[in-house]
Amino acid sequence: MLELRPNCEGCDIDLPPASADARICTYECTFCVNCVEQVLKNVCPNCGGGFEPRPVRPAIAHRPGVGLQFHPASTVRVHAKYTATELPEPVAPAKPGFLALAGNRGVVKSALKIAFVVGSILALINHGGDILALHLTQGSVLQILLTYMVPYSVSTYSSVRALQRHAVEHPGRL
Ligand SMILES: [Zn+2]
Ligand SMILES: [Zn+2]
Repeated sequence: MLELRPNCEGCDIDLPPASADARICTYECTFCVNCVEQVLKNVCPNCGGGFEPRPVRPAIAHRPGVGLQFHPASTVRVHAKYTATELPEPVAPAKPGFLALAGNRGVVKSALKIAFVVGSILALINHGGDILALHLTQGSVLQILLTYMVPYSVSTYSSVRALQRHAVEHPGRL
């Protein structure tokens, strides 16, 4: 059950249970709408999460045993670990490493697909005659392998870059 804390952790304004200005995060850190929008930019300074309007608990019992009458709001005033002036800069989302993402299953899968299709076409264009004549020297085998490496690398590179961009633009949604 929500504690329904009595005040804004930032500016200490009163937020009575029926207040439409109360905002809470998933840990029930409680701030006023003004602090949330103007100061915090909808990022909780304690946990880094977002805010939603705090639901109002009815003052009277619409059903037996519920409502403020039976479950009163908390009277313990809470103050944020950080005051508005010393709010920590939101931690910059770490860019996931290139190699870690390059080994990601989805990245490898699509790179293999593209390498197979594009590499095969390129191999046929460049070495089709040799392949059909079964006249493959060590050198041309190496060249064919490299032909597959190129689309594999390009696909991996662009997938990883896209994942990194996504991670930076949507922190916390990985
Ligand atoms: Zn406030
Ligand atoms: Zn929080």
